[in-house]
Formats: sequence, structure tokens, C-alpha cells
Amino acid sequence: MTFVNTRPYGSGVHELSIAMSLVEAASEEARRHGDVRVEALHLRIGVLAGVVREALAFSFELAAEGTPVAGARLIIEEVPVTVACPTCQAERALASPQEFRCPVCGTATGHVVAGRELVLTALELEDHDSANR
Ligand SMILES: [Zn+2]
Repeated sequence: MTFVNTRPYGSGVHELSIAMSLVEAASEEARRHGDVRVEALHLRIGVLAGVVREALAFSFELAAEGTPVAGARLIIEEVPVTVACPTCQAERALASPQEFRCPVCGTATGHVVAGRELVLTALELEDHDSANR
């Protein structure tokens, strides 16, 4: 599952809709594994995705209530902005998301190849045998 969002700034509504989609996807996966609980969600979030972590965590908690995802942790890996430099013919991670130029040769480039994504990469599901409920 991939979310693409190019809005520069997050708002509460933005994070809530993301949280709801995450909960939905994780719940579906939990059901497929026999109604296990989801212990953690691993996400990759680009620094340009416009997601405010605190707002996402808060929205996630609300959205997860009453689902197999309730109480799950969000493990977020931040993805730096990567641009393609036409001079170096290479992909370079930006030193600062405010400055769209190659950190090696200084060529200005707006060709973003990573940093806008919001991807659910993995789920940690409760082991059915070790369930202690
Ligand atoms: Zn370069």
C-alpha cells in the first residue's frame, strides 16, 4: 500500500485519514491471520509527506480503538528527500529539505525521487500461541 501526498504541511484531518487507512489495512491483515492482534506497524514516511508525527500518533490511537489494531505501536522510519542530479547522473539525499540542490556538485534540481512517500512496510502480529488474554 502506498500513499502519495504532496501537500507541504500536515493538518489534523490529513493525519486522521491516513490513520484510518492504516488501521483498515492492518485490521484486514490481522483478520486474514485468524483475528490476531496487531502489535506494531512499520511505516516509511518521507519528510515531504507532510505528516506530523504527533498528530498521526494521536489520530492512530483514536482510529484503532475497538479494532485488532488497538494499542499497536507505530514504528516510523523517516525517509530523507532524494533528488536525481542531472550533472552527477545519480540520486542524492538532500542535506536539507528546503534546498533542492545536489549536495555533491551543487546543481539545482527539483526532480524528487523519494521523500514524499507514506508506506506501510510491515506489521508485527501477535503470535497466536503466545496470546495471553
Ligand atoms: Zn550533482
